[in-house]
Amino acid sequence: MRSVRLWSVRHAGALAVLYRLFIRLAPRLRRSVEWLGPERLERVVAPAERTIKGFFFDCHMCGRCTLSSTGMACPMNCPKLHRNGPCGGVMADGGCELDPGMRCVWLEALDGAKRVVGRADLDPAQIQRPADQRLRGTSVWIGAIMARDTAAPESPSEGPAAPGQVREPGALERACRSGRFVVTAELSPPDSADPQDLLRRAAPFRGQVDAVNVTDGAGGNCHMGSLAASALLAADGYEPVFQIACRDRNRIAMQGDILGAAALGVRNLLAITGDGVENGDHPQARPVFDLDSVSLLEVARGLRDRGAYASGRSIGARPGLFLGATINPFAPPFRERIANFEKKIAAGAQFVQTQYCFDPEMLEAFMQEVRARGIERRCHILVGVGPLASARTARWMLAHVPGVHIPAQLLHRLEQSADQRREGTMICVELIRAVRQMEGIAGVHVMAHRNESLVPEILRESGLAAERDAVPPRHGAT
Ligand code: SF4
Repeated sequence: MRSVRLWSVRHAGALAVLYRLFIRLAPRLRRSVEWLGPERLERVVAPAERTIKGFFFDCHMCGRCTLSSTGMACPMNCPKLHRNGPCGGVMADGGCELDPGMRCVWLEALDGAKRVVGRADLDPAQIQRPADQRLRGTSVWIGAIMARDTAAPESPSEGPAAPGQVREPGALERACRSGRFVVTAELSPPDSADPQDLLRRAAPFRGQVDAVNVTDGAGGNCHMGSLAASALLAADGYEPVFQIACRDRNRIAMQGDILGAAALGVRNLLAITGDGVENGDHPQARPVFDLDSVSLLEVARGLRDRGAYASGRSIGARPGLFLGATINPFAPPFRERIANFEKKIAAGAQFVQTQYCFDPEMLEAFMQEVRARGIERRCHILVGVGPLASARTARWMLAHVPGVHIPAQLLHRLEQSADQRREGTMICVELIRAVRQMEGIAGVHVMAHRNESLVPEILRESGLAAERDAVPPRHGAT
């Protein structure tokens, strides 16, 4: 079936013409469908549509067809059900992070989009709405003829921002707006129910960074929940970034968690789609992926700016959140990563963290495109950096952390070193210095997994600690 799917992508131009013709004719068929009875017709057409679209597109009958805007590649074939992809884990050869034998469906979508007349790319402004479970299995053809309107209540970005309370920016947002170089650090919550275990891990960050980003089941592994960990950090005077992964919760749970986090003093949210469960410690778990990171950003923005759930129902006090997302300039498709970045900004991202940067030249090439479009003026860019403990660690990361790129010469440098741990720290320091010089970068995000105590040393040696001392953080910063 996959070969037929690729045939459809190769002929996306002709299929798009057919689609446009159908959309133009659809209103004229409405009377006939009404006369025959849409429900009765649905019973006949839906199975036929399933067979035809299943054969040509590997269609999953989600009921919200995106084929006309995704180059005739069905995004529901993505194992993460990413409707606004690609994710940051696309492999160097274009293979899927979770199914290396399959080419990323979003690369197929890009190929198809280039064949559609009037398009050269996927439209960054076109945010695909999340799937609607009520429509699963229904006929999109009948829906188009009957102009079934299913969009209104759950497009949180639609409609004006509701008047309400004035949002006071938190410490991270103020630091980003101040124009000084920002530093955040990543914290993986412990496998423990003791809050002291979390606070001990965070202790090296106190007074050193602007915010602590709490991972949410990174790598698909189970740890103390990021909401509880963020709240504990907030109560202890840190500025947490609550990371929330779409992998584990549906839209009801995530919206409840967002309100809960804000109620507990959390001011920053980082929306991620999340790694698959396949490579984590619970591969038997069922992944959720009800939303993707882009839809989650829209939903969070709707809560904050419109004071409404994705369903349209109003809430009381709105969460005053600074919204973040992730980007990966180091994984294919390189050129289109910019469009994906812009889509996240359109959905509400005010700051982004990149995947680990081990290749400043590659980052600079990405930043040239960012600056050409003025994107750095619309979103604060924090570059991910981190110390490599050894060449063995670097090789493990290459094999197990999706979307990580480590140049061969850097691996060689580590291998040749008599003190690989020290060498890894120095590489990190050099990378920070290189990133510091790049125009348009707002700061760094230091990821020192299980090496949190190295962070103060890295900041001192890179000169960032001295810079921070010269401009002390305002009240509320970590
Ligand atoms: S690489 Fe990511 S976006 Fe592409 S198909 Fe796989 S999971 Fe989906």
